Amino acid sequence: MGKRRSQKAAVLEGTEVMVKKKTRKPRSPIPEPTYIIPDVERKETTFKGPLILGYACLNTILRNKRPAAESIFCSRTCRIDTIKKNGLEWVKDLGRKNCQDLLSIIQWNHENNIRFMRISSEMFPFASHATYGYSLDYCAPLLSQVGALASQLGHRLTTHPGQFTQLGSPRAEVVQSSLRELQYHAEMMDRMGLGVDGVMIVHGGGVYEDKAATIERIKETITRVLPKNVRERLVLENDELCYNAEDLLPLCEELDIPLVFGKSHYHHDALHPSSISRRQIIERANAVWIRRGIKPKQHLSEPRPGAETLMERRAHADRCQSLPEELPDDMGRPVWVKAKDKEQAVLHLYRIYGLQPVKQGKKHLVVLGLICVRDKSVQNLYGHLMKIRPRRPRDANLTRRGRRKRAERKRQMT
Ligand SMILES: [Zn+2]
Repeated sequence: MGKRRSQKAAVLEGTEVMVKKKTRKPRSPIPEPTYIIPDVERKETTFKGPLILGYACLNTILRNKRPAAESIFCSRTCRIDTIKKNGLEWVKDLGRKNCQDLLSIIQWNHENNIRFMRISSEMFPFASHATYGYSLDYCAPLLSQVGALASQLGHRLTTHPGQFTQLGSPRAEVVQSSLRELQYHAEMMDRMGLGVDGVMIVHGGGVYEDKAATIERIKETITRVLPKNVRERLVLENDELCYNAEDLLPLCEELDIPLVFGKSHYHHDALHPSSISRRQIIERANAVWIRRGIKPKQHLSEPRPGAETLMERRAHADRCQSLPEELPDDMGRPVWVKAKDKEQAVLHLYRIYGLQPVKQGKKHLVVLGLICVRDKSVQNLYGHLMKIRPRRPRDANLTRRGRRKRAERKRQMT
């Protein structure tokens, strides 16, 4: 580190051109991942409606493109220090690039029969920040281009504002920042011109030692604080720790706010079950979706294989191996597959149930060095053969913030 710094100082003084060249020696390029298609166990579903599977935010194939400059993703972000250093225009440019890449991802999805996706909340870094926030006006043409492409391809887009969105917080400033966060998401979707199906999903949040009182505050925030365009896109979702579907349903029914549930959050619900049956929950939840004229949506995830404790079971498996049995056979039901393998998880279910044709060559990362990063299915198989436990990626337990911090630290080191 010390040596590096002194080299840098020398470069700054303009005396050591050779040293500068040496520090910028290009790394040998990492090869682009190659893909193979392993066999899946075919299953049947009685589901008759248009089953639309989607995934969240990140497309692992496009993200892993090589060289890295060609990588396509929507979560370029930075730290506040970088905003201070580089200025707001620089940050806004990250948003522009994210937005441009969203066009490519939607196109890719279309070509691979995926017509449903959750937009990354990091599309416009810090747009909802109290001090560094900004309007998305500068990106209006691009945003409407995204919306137009999505509508042309019949692609549904939704969002899921982060867990710091706490509608029931007893602290006014937390409610205010939650409001800003929701307004940012609503602005993004409004500027895309998304219709009613462009929903914004939030969890109940914390219980603040009194669930009933917190639910009252959530109600208060929804009815008195949220502007119309935010409220119209708002959807609540049960979670595995604080609010199960039964806690949220009365609120949803009273305020006409749809509830995302399913065997969907069947994973979540299985961890913190409601006393009423899943079928009843789905029926009641659907009634609200239908009343509002919005296509229902469910979340599907499975716990990691071998997970036993509650915290272990909260982690999603890389892929889902089956569709929920409670899925009504006759209802158009977009299901968002919540799995670490993202688009691969969707394609995996397509193949298991023969739902959609899946193109060749888009399946598993088999470059050995990348297996532990992306493809645990291959890795699990490998682990099984070798009788070793598959290794989890090093950053599997880090939060998004932790990962960002680590990336920042890495950047500072080089
Ligand atoms: Zn969620």
